[in-house]
Amino acid sequence: MVKPIFTIPDKRLRQKSEEIIAFDKTIGQIIADLTDTLVAQTDPPGLGLSAPQIGITKRLFVAKIRNKFKAFVNPQILKFSKKELALLEGCFSVPELYGHVVRPAEIDITACDRIGKQFKNHYKGLPARIIQHEVDHLNGVLFVDHVHNQNGKLFKVEKNKKGKEQLVEVSRLIGL
Ligand SMILES: [Zn+2]
Repeated sequence: MVKPIFTIPDKRLRQKSEEIIAFDKTIGQIIADLTDTLVAQTDPPGLGLSAPQIGITKRLFVAKIRNKFKAFVNPQILKFSKKELALLEGCFSVPELYGHVVRPAEIDITACDRIGKQFKNHYKGLPARIIQHEVDHLNGVLFVDHVHNQNGKLFKVEKNKKGKEQLVEVSRLIGL
């Protein structure tokens, strides 16, 4: 079922989510709801969504990786590459704002699937980025925190006179 996505300044986005202990039907249901909600986002399209963003403070998220929706339950990043990359990020919980975030380019991650089976994977490129962004959500961290810490700039999308979308710098938001 498509769920409403919580946005700032909702306090649930700032909580540390809880480990999942029982892999019962509820977990499958949360994964289905996260996937449905992600599929429903078209502008911009959804690449990842974490449980706290739909108000469930449990450690799981769904990410679109190589065109497939994959669930990560109790994810743990085991290793970050030394190489870092600056990429423009946005978030459904921080509507209409974008900013460059520097993060490690590659990661090794372990997580469980919906029935509790553990897997381990190496990711680079966009999937590595999506996963780090979603793991942050489980710790109450938003991409704007990194933008602030890295002295970066925030942008919003605006239409210019010709109706073409462009990124326009916004002054820093206080209280995120
Ligand atoms: Zn997000």
